[in-house]
Amino acid sequence: MHFETEAIRNQLERSSFKEHSSPLYVTSSFVFDDAEEMRASFAEEKDRAIYSRFTNPNTSEFISKMCALEGAEAGYAFATGMSAIFSTFAALLNSGDHIVSCRSVFGSTHSLFTKYLPKWNIQTSFFKVDEVDTITSLITENTKILYAETPTNPAVALLDLAVLGAIAKKHNLLLVIDNCFATPYLQQPIKYGADVVLHSATKLIDGQGRVLGGVAVGRADLIREIYLFSRNSGPALSPFNAWILSKSLETLAVRVDKHCENALQLATALESNTAIKTVKYPFLPSHPQYEIALQQMKKGGNIISIELHGGIAAGRTFLNNLKMCSLSANLGDTRTIVTHPASTTHSRLPESDRLETGITEGLVRISVGLEHIEDITNDIEQALVTL
Ligand SMILES: *Cc1c(COP(=O)(O)O)cnc(C)c1O
Repeated sequence: MHFETEAIRNQLERSSFKEHSSPLYVTSSFVFDDAEEMRASFAEEKDRAIYSRFTNPNTSEFISKMCALEGAEAGYAFATGMSAIFSTFAALLNSGDHIVSCRSVFGSTHSLFTKYLPKWNIQTSFFKVDEVDTITSLITENTKILYAETPTNPAVALLDLAVLGAIAKKHNLLLVIDNCFATPYLQQPIKYGADVVLHSATKLIDGQGRVLGGVAVGRADLIREIYLFSRNSGPALSPFNAWILSKSLETLAVRVDKHCENALQLATALESNTAIKTVKYPFLPSHPQYEIALQQMKKGGNIISIELHGGIAAGRTFLNNLKMCSLSANLGDTRTIVTHPASTTHSRLPESDRLETGITEGLVRISVGLEHIEDITNDIEQALVTL
């Protein structure tokens, strides 16, 4: 079946009520007919729900759709994107193991690498997003995981998934990709050799700024380790959030199509704006990795990064001038959201560290929403006039 059909028709078996749309199973546990059924279920001879920390029909439906959409063998769903990321490392790594990661990763992922994993003697070496050729020199005999996000947050740089897949294969590493910005609709890392694909479902998968969620999908043997760790440590997605996210997947393709159409139109309009030094959007021919974008992405996504001429002061003025767009930390919402990392999310980092991840003083990230494109463009352009 096609992506759109799979996202809609891949659903739970109907209950005796013959409901059309999957119901919400708000229950912490499930009952057994007799001692034998209970024994067989715990022995995993029977595939059925036991307790919602392990499995629940709503989380199972969400996982089943995500596996179909990413082309994965198995998956497990989490309360947040960060619990998916942490549990993957905790399940797959041992003390003494080493990670090679791109430096441009989500802020909390970077904190796991630098503050927490070292507590268990797991070290990480970083390569710059435009220096993929240095990866091989960072690999040691203890390296187990090659980790990256593409497109990156907030600079919208791209990594060539085919190149990462080839390096991982050659050096026998697990390739773990955070596919949050692209969603499986635009990019499927497993095709390029990814072993585990991670998502914050909080972003475009929910798409309406309502619930937190995360998911890990990939090779069945690796997901089994992640599942066993999670079954014991407890980061499970709630049935209610799973139900919301599974419904959200039904409209992922149409929503992301419109997000991409709006983003491309806005990015094109901003390219000729004199208050802006540069506009970065994967599907603009001016993007430094435009060829990679065409090769591995269906469309350009909903995130644009712009560089204002006036640095920090211009970034703050721009944010204050906006009348409609939201100032918020989320992204991938129906509402257009604008952030200025240098004065907010990344303000405590020394400038040299900011620059290393591509966060310049005038960098503004726009998560383009689903409002009418004229209203989005008008608001952004009027906010740029006085800069
Ligand atoms: C938001 C985000 C995360 C973390 O997800 P949460 O659901 O907020 O825990 C991880 N990676 C990327 C790329 C993100 O944008």
